[in-house]
Amino acid sequence: MNLTAHFTLAELTASAKARALGLDNTPPADVLPRLVLLAEMLERIRATLGEPITVTSGYRSPAVNRAVGGITNSDHTLGLAADIVGPAVGTPYVLAKRLAPLVQTLCIGQLILEGMRGKQWLHVSTRAPAQACNRVITITDAGTQPGIQELA
Ligand SMILES: [Zn+2]
Repeated sequence: MNLTAHFTLAELTASAKARALGLDNTPPADVLPRLVLLAEMLERIRATLGEPITVTSGYRSPAVNRAVGGITNSDHTLGLAADIVGPAVGTPYVLAKRLAPLVQTLCIGQLILEGMRGKQWLHVSTRAPAQACNRVITITDAGTQPGIQELA
């Protein structure tokens, strides 16, 4: 099922972890409209970057979220967030630097450059955090830093 021109429900709910553990990652009905809004935000990001982007993690059922070590009440479990990479554009850091000045324009609620356990990706959420200073941040194994910081 297509949510928008370039993003499908299958892509936004795919989970290697869920498959490996035999967990159901079907979103409940109330999450679907949020996934459409998420896909629309991803379309704006894709159009801005001018290249396809790949969703590495979108919706996560609470069980899948626990299995991947996601934080409780993660925006992923609400259908509000996606982790993305865009190899045709550059590293997650390059994507983050391109998108950070545009969060307002593109209605990106939260933009997090993440570098954890040897992997790097960009987390984008349709929901803005309570504190404006948390809107654009970098999270690594060393902790959280404001803005987009170069990853080691
Ligand atoms: Zn994420």
